[in-house]
Amino acid sequence: MVGVRRRIAAALLGAVAASGLVAPGSAAASSGATAQAVPGVVRPLPDGSYGLSSYYGPRCMPVRSASVWHLGQDMGASKSTPVRSIAKGTVVKAGAAPGFGQVVVVRHRIDGVRVFSVYGHVVDGDRWVRAGDSVTRGQRIAGVGSSGTSSGPHLHLEIWRRAYKGAGWTRDPLTWMRNHDASLRTGAAWSYNRVVPTSCTYWTTTKVNLRSGPGTDHPVIKSVPVNRKLTARPGDGEGVWRRVTNAGTTGWMHAAYVSPSLTPLGKLFVQEDGLRLRSKPSTSANVKAVLGRGSAVQQIWPSAGGWTKVYVGGMQGYVMTRYVDSSRP
Ligand SMILES: [Zn+2]
Repeated sequence: MVGVRRRIAAALLGAVAASGLVAPGSAAASSGATAQAVPGVVRPLPDGSYGLSSYYGPRCMPVRSASVWHLGQDMGASKSTPVRSIAKGTVVKAGAAPGFGQVVVVRHRIDGVRVFSVYGHVVDGDRWVRAGDSVTRGQRIAGVGSSGTSSGPHLHLEIWRRAYKGAGWTRDPLTWMRNHDASLRTGAAWSYNRVVPTSCTYWTTTKVNLRSGPGTDHPVIKSVPVNRKLTARPGDGEGVWRRVTNAGTTGWMHAAYVSPSLTPLGKLFVQEDGLRLRSKPSTSANVKAVLGRGSAVQQIWPSAGGWTKVYVGGMQGYVMTRYVDSSRP
């Protein structure tokens, strides 16, 4: 078996060398070494097809349940853009995975070190390759998608050394790829600034417990209603738990109930002309807008004390509950 595999590897190498991918005289081309010695890394998406969006490191959650320590580099691209293996290797995972929706993981040996490349949020995660398949450098392995916890089509690329999770550790893909002559910046059509904000703003997605520690075994400090403001430091989390501050109290909340945007509770219609949107739930509070009969508003807090907090035209404010209803006037 070994002999056969050697011959196949040698034949592959010959083909690669003939195609000009391996420089004549390079170690791999001249030594007849096995295929894993073929040097070089390629970008996982075609040049000009992507942009650099979210970077490796601490961040604010881009969507509910998302991580606050970003383990990869996000490359925004159109849906179904071909995703290629950055190097020769063996597929160790292809298909559904929590958080990623679908993922492909490829094991490589690069510079004598075991390296794993991870391609998250893809579509067709098990169409092009299956676990156990050998892949060549640049071989198509999936398509760009928005599966799992994602706000739009992009490739989430992770680089792990030694092991995937467990005893392994991640590298900043931007640095790692640059150090392997495949800078992601070089191929990028656009990029967001690499800025980590000093504070993140989130909102509760439902009535949720604020706990003294990251787990349900920690006591509840207080219960926080839906759509209440939370602040947090980028990267401040442990697993699915986020350390947040609400109205001066700091504690831990489950990431599933923490969102960077308000949760609409439902659409309401203004029943009479001239309804005042006020800054506070009081008839003496500032009038922010005057709403006409039939206008639609988004309810953001449960009604209380005759007032309903709503969102309309980019503004938040309070209207008197008796002048709004879920049916059109
Ligand atoms: Zn990502």
